[in-house]
Amino acid sequence: MSQPTKYVYGFAEGGRDMAALLGGKGAGLAEMTRLGLPVPPGFTVTTDACKAYLATGEEPPELGVEAARALAGLEQAMGRTLGAPDDPLLVSARSGARFSMPGMMDTILDIGLNDQSVTGLAKASGQERFAWDSYRRLIQMFGHTVMGVDGDLFEQAIAAHTTDDHDLDTAELARLTEEFKAIIRKETGEDFPQDPADQLARAVRAVFDSWNTERARVYRHREHIPEDLGTAVNVQAMVFGNLGNDSGTGVAFTRDPATGERGLYGDYLPDAQGEDVVAGVRDALPLSELKTLDPRAYVELGDHLRTLENHYRDLCDVEFTVERGKLWILQTRVGKRTAEAAFRIAHDLREEQTITADEALVRVDGAELTRLMFPRFDVKATALPLAHGVPASPGAAVGAVVFDSAEAVRRAAAGEKVVLVRRETTPDDLPGMIAAQAVLTSRGGKTSHAAVVARGMGKVCVCGAESLGVDLVARAFTTDSGVVVHEGETVSVDGTAGTVHLGELPLTASDVGRALETGTAADPLTEAVLGALAHADSVRRMEVRANADTPEDAARARSLGAQGIGLCRTEHMFLGERRALVEAMILARDDTAREQALAALLPLQRADFTGILEAMDGLPVTIRLLDPPLHEFLPDRTELAVRLAEAAEPDPRERELLAAVERMHEQNPMLGLRGVRLGLAVPGLMAMQVRAVAEAVTARLRAGGRPRAEIMIPLVGTVEELRLARTETEHVLADVAAETGTAPDCPIGTMIELPRAALTAGRIAESADFFSFGTNDLTQTTWGLSRDDAEASFFPLYLEKGVFAVSPFDSIDQEGVGRLVELAVEAGRAVNPRLETGVCGEHGGDPDSIHFFHRTGLDYVSCSPFRIPAARLEAGRAAL
Ligand code: PEP
Ligand code: MG
Repeated sequence: MSQPTKYVYGFAEGGRDMAALLGGKGAGLAEMTRLGLPVPPGFTVTTDACKAYLATGEEPPELGVEAARALAGLEQAMGRTLGAPDDPLLVSARSGARFSMPGMMDTILDIGLNDQSVTGLAKASGQERFAWDSYRRLIQMFGHTVMGVDGDLFEQAIAAHTTDDHDLDTAELARLTEEFKAIIRKETGEDFPQDPADQLARAVRAVFDSWNTERARVYRHREHIPEDLGTAVNVQAMVFGNLGNDSGTGVAFTRDPATGERGLYGDYLPDAQGEDVVAGVRDALPLSELKTLDPRAYVELGDHLRTLENHYRDLCDVEFTVERGKLWILQTRVGKRTAEAAFRIAHDLREEQTITADEALVRVDGAELTRLMFPRFDVKATALPLAHGVPASPGAAVGAVVFDSAEAVRRAAAGEKVVLVRRETTPDDLPGMIAAQAVLTSRGGKTSHAAVVARGMGKVCVCGAESLGVDLVARAFTTDSGVVVHEGETVSVDGTAGTVHLGELPLTASDVGRALETGTAADPLTEAVLGALAHADSVRRMEVRANADTPEDAARARSLGAQGIGLCRTEHMFLGERRALVEAMILARDDTAREQALAALLPLQRADFTGILEAMDGLPVTIRLLDPPLHEFLPDRTELAVRLAEAAEPDPRERELLAAVERMHEQNPMLGLRGVRLGLAVPGLMAMQVRAVAEAVTARLRAGGRPRAEIMIPLVGTVEELRLARTETEHVLADVAAETGTAPDCPIGTMIELPRAALTAGRIAESADFFSFGTNDLTQTTWGLSRDDAEASFFPLYLEKGVFAVSPFDSIDQEGVGRLVELAVEAGRAVNPRLETGVCGEHGGDPDSIHFFHRTGLDYVSCSPFRIPAARLEAGRAAL
């Protein structure tokens, strides 16, 4: 018989490897309990229970029994009974999913208080005001979260008494409690429940329900967190940080999560509850102040943090509370960090020999590296800041000021860059934060909601810029020097320095970007980045090449670590002034006219290739023959027709041009006369390009270089096409060899970018020295999706409905398009074991796709120059 499902685990029963079942928070609490850290006792209701509840709308029957047993154990451990009239045990019910979703789901504190136990708490704690404040907090939180009452109604009731709830005395709090109960009764027709067990059961259910709130769904979608995981609920004995000046609450990190610098870091708020810190409602003190306020608690906290960092071998953060001098740790997890901190911490932990070089490499990723390569504001810009705040998430961003989430979303959708300005953010601001370039708040510290969420997204954030007076009604903010900034005005936000400037500041390249190009470290961060890349380079199997079409791009790509060019698109050399020559070639009436036009193009192409081969001397350069349909080089059909119709005396040449444009017009040019088809259809075109390559190679050889050109035939669908193209190419190579006395050694290969090519790759490999997967066209033709139109048309809908988790043009569709790649590699290698394979579509620079290509056994990926460092890093990570 199978074991019955267990839905409740005491903290002492779980551990860090049970995060799927207990959620991240539950697993952390269990692990700390095992380590002997001072964790208030409690138990975790599993994600399985949540899933069962969400599927059926009812808790599994066993849950009630198990929870009651766990509660009895908790009561015994604490020597108190939940909600007992004298000295009651109070508990919290906190959400905690497998993956951290900060502030997205619900938490209910102070469960167990009612009209009787509030006086019991007052007596036991000796603090009447505290007891009543806790009771009104419970009713407010429970009323809103569990019973669905509009939270503003409670805020309005408070505002009728005071502007600052700290001013309320015991009598006022007691009155407020009655008012809150009346609000609940009026809004729901029900009384606030007095039965503690009922409070707890309903709170657990509400936390389950909060998995499916709109904001939680938006967050999961953005972070690619699966929908079906559910949340666990942690029920834990309450400890209080708001019992006076010998109490308090805070958040601490084992290292600085913004910069990665070593040393304890965090915020502390004396005489406050945990929610006050996270919400950024009051401005916290730096953690170092605790050293003076309570040296014993500070030292003890430092010891626990060290224990945790050594145990998890990574940056950890904790939430803690000091209750009358006694330190309690309420939560821990491996902390979120900025890209900068990720590199520095991984590097430092490796240097401290806490982790291996492989582990350090796994701790960073290509997306973080790319973020660090972006520009920052020019520090020499003299503009005085409008305001200073906490540098919560680094980087530089410019945008128009907006004051609410909806406006941010609206303007961003219209293509405007915006900066979201709020007093503080709440989870409801999430869509606006996603839409904005930067987030600016006037309240809250580095651990406030705004800071935590922005950092996770890699979004610029300055918070706690206290001198800003944010006026949501006037839709403006004022600074202490009297400047008024209205909605729509441009500001520059520096998340690294923590400053805000009026207008648009000039940007400079990042130090990391520069260090990557020069290969020289200038500071701890660039040292960490270069160190991670060096290790990635030493372990990766796949090479990384660049997609580049000019000597300048080739040189830049090489300095960023490119090991050759995987795709040189020759059509980019046919534009600009050369367009007239191309036009002449297309319009040629006879062979002589065409040959003349081609002869004029030849030296230009030869010079292009010579330059690129020189920049990539010694490394492979894959030159693709002309790919797009010829009409792309001719004027627009409608414009030309209009011009001719309007002309008093139509130019006969223009008439001829229009006739040619019409002759070549195709309804579906991407599926038309392009790629190899063009090379076969236009006499002399392919020969001219191959000759230019061959002559460039011999010129470079004569100059003492080591040119390694490869000739690539695009859009092949059948081996017959490749055979014809190969024969012609080989003839030209032989001609050039005979003319120059030097035989240019150029491998000839093909792109695999049509499903038929992938499916018949075994045949195609008979005539190919290499395959390069053109995953842009392969995605387009496999899905039947236009790469030019689909993303702007219905992709947003598909992403929202979950048809796509990510655009198949951004990240390879492993099941479909990826399967074709796998088939083609296998079939091609079976025929030609020396077949070289790579990818040169956009996917070559995408981290997830790179891991897939590694598993598929490709020899290289090729991507835009700026993506090369990230691709090197990911190719290294994929190899571990
Ligand atoms: C491709 O199709 O993936 C490719 C690299 O070629 P292009 O993008 O030039 O069509
Ligand atoms: Mg293509």
